[in-house]
Amino acid sequence: MWEYAPAPESRDIANLKPSYRMFLDGEFVEGGGEPLKTVNPATEEVLAEVSTASKSDVDKAVKAARRAYDRVWGRMPGAERAKYIFRIARMVAERSRELAVLESLDNGKPIKESRDVDVPTASAHFFYHAGWADKLDYAGLGPDPRPLGVAGQVIPWNFPLLMAAWKLAPALACGNTVVLKPAETTPLTALVLADIIQQADLPPGVVNILPGAGDVGAELVGHPDIDKVAFTGSTEVGKLIQCSVAGTGKKLTLELGGKAANVVFDDAPLDQAVEGIVNGIFFNQGHVCCAGSRLLVQESVADELLDKLHTRIATLRVGDPLDKNTDVGAINSREQLTKIAELVSSGEAEGAEKWVSPCPLPDKGFFFAPTVFAGVSQAMRIAREEIFGPVLSVLTFRTPDEAVAKANNTPYGLSAGIWTDKGSRILWMADRLRAGVVWANTFNRFDPTAPFGGYQESGFGREGGRQGLEAYLDV
Ligand code: NAD
Repeated sequence: MWEYAPAPESRDIANLKPSYRMFLDGEFVEGGGEPLKTVNPATEEVLAEVSTASKSDVDKAVKAARRAYDRVWGRMPGAERAKYIFRIARMVAERSRELAVLESLDNGKPIKESRDVDVPTASAHFFYHAGWADKLDYAGLGPDPRPLGVAGQVIPWNFPLLMAAWKLAPALACGNTVVLKPAETTPLTALVLADIIQQADLPPGVVNILPGAGDVGAELVGHPDIDKVAFTGSTEVGKLIQCSVAGTGKKLTLELGGKAANVVFDDAPLDQAVEGIVNGIFFNQGHVCCAGSRLLVQESVADELLDKLHTRIATLRVGDPLDKNTDVGAINSREQLTKIAELVSSGEAEGAEKWVSPCPLPDKGFFFAPTVFAGVSQAMRIAREEIFGPVLSVLTFRTPDEAVAKANNTPYGLSAGIWTDKGSRILWMADRLRAGVVWANTFNRFDPTAPFGGYQESGFGREGGRQGLEAYLDV
């Protein structure tokens, strides 16, 4: 999709404004909440001031969404809805340079990732779901599928635009209207998406985007006139939300944390596996729910694989997210940086062997050097807890049974990876791994046609594919 990467000085392309307003009932308006300042994590400079929603703004937005649902969107033929969603998909693609630069500024991710993954995948998600809008009656989803009504959606900071697309596209395709709350540290691309939605002429109220912190999310989720809650974020907050909607009759899907095992057998092509492991844990600084944060390697090749990994990781360039050569960008916030450092200290205290990439780090900004722990045991915190940063924990196994047991020894269950030359072993493993997605000889592949979602404390419900639509329909 891209011929040229934006140059480092291309900050202007982001069309960055000094302040952003929230999107309510088709208009950009000042919110009644305390404005928040969004920070560039690579420089620690304030990027923009963003207006946030008050309790009464949440109520106004839900009312606007209800009106839009009752009067227009919920009654519109699917073929008409499809035209709007196709328009959004095209406009996201047309504004992809602006969105990619803005995403890297606000989130800290390398421009080559926002340019080649986040923005094109977001656009693809709208294209894919636009194609469904007029086919729901014949898709075998059940008799006479109907939208649910008004959806309240809350998203995290790790893929700000992409998560907004994952949430909005299926909801709109099925005929629901939406109030969406982006994360407090990364609201900017969701507000550009709101601009796109306004320019695409979506009827007022069909989509409302309200920035704010967790209190705004809680207000939205708890609003009595919401029919469906869709949440992506931490397991901790997911549990609170599940309790708060219990007994209300609201439908709920939760996309939560993970602690994925990336399992390497001794017959795997090791150089290829090294690339997959690096991508699995250092893509997006490891701020990925399905990050391959636990490497399980067969004992007979553990030393060789670790040597190769160290050599490869030492070449990763950590630094300016807007430099197209950067491999690992900035950690999204000081708070997240502190959390990563605390878990890394626990790994040292519990006796794991720490190896840190010798790469230079910028003087300013929230950066963390790629880190690998060897000699990790299952009881250590770094083997059990989601670090959500560029930190890999390496464990070993001898037999396939032991690999399965260790991979499944987690309260999570979002994704897993298998590296082996044997097709039969891939199928054997995939059958036994409790994970919503199992990648074989690859990692972190996303496609709107494939359902994505978790087991156990990674949540429930699927996003993408035909199954993703079921979360927004009643039959
Ligand atoms: P978080 O749970 O702290 O916040 C997520 C969102 O919830 C934010 O918008 C936040 O403002 C809001 N929020 C906070 N408290 C709330 C409350 N009480 N009620 C309603 N909303 C509330 O998570 P985060 O730190 O932003 O994101 C990282 C987490 O997200 C990680 O655990 C990661 O694994 C998970 N994640 C999961 C997926 C997935 O598809 N499973 C995808 C991306 C991220």
